[in-house]
Amino acid sequence: MKRIGLTGGIGSGKTTIAQAFATLGVPVYNSDSRAKWLTENDSRIRNGLTQIIGPEVFTDGHLNKKLMASVIFADRQKLTEVNQLIHPIVFDNFDRWADEQESAGARYVVNEAAILIENDAYKRLDSLILVCAPVETRIERTMLRDKMSRKQVEERIANQSSDEQKMPFADDIIVTDDRHLVLPQILDIHKRLTYS
Ligand code: ATP
Repeated sequence: MKRIGLTGGIGSGKTTIAQAFATLGVPVYNSDSRAKWLTENDSRIRNGLTQIIGPEVFTDGHLNKKLMASVIFADRQKLTEVNQLIHPIVFDNFDRWADEQESAGARYVVNEAAILIENDAYKRLDSLILVCAPVETRIERTMLRDKMSRKQVEERIANQSSDEQKMPFADDIIVTDDRHLVLPQILDIHKRLTYS
């Protein structure tokens, strides 16, 4: 069974593409939502965050997301520490989940994550799909979806690596602009992964 990474910058459309793979019957691991669950439920993450950010990061047992976001976006060192704490635990969780999917007979599974290249996680996967779209398109989509200002979205994009920096690591690229149809691109990859 192959383990396939699916990544892309904010607003590129990776969750939408991941949902399409799921519709085709492919088991999809959403790293973002799994990380959120693990952050509240895994004692190693809870203890680590308490040390990095302070005990106030948990209020009544729940993560204070606003506080955590304000701390890590203002302090790169803390952002790195939080990533180094959370990413390996989430990836181990993915590995165990993938083993279960393999036992259940899956041909391949998809790990959807905003960060797979920057933390070297792609090296533990069999191949990587990069979802790309023009920056302006990504800004407009994210502003609309998250009710964020242009400036806020541009700041998020500036914090991430660019499509051009990610491209050399990709085995496949799915373009989600207004000139390419996405379904044929998805089906092409799906056929190759299912029948080869
Ligand atoms: P994030 O990293 O912020 O979670 P993402 O890469 O997962 O973003 P999506 O949430 O899939 O991106 O898509 C962002 C927005 O763009 C959503 O509102 C989605 O409906 C829309 N969108 C996704 N793909 C396309 C597309 N091919 N054409 C037009 N709109 C799209």
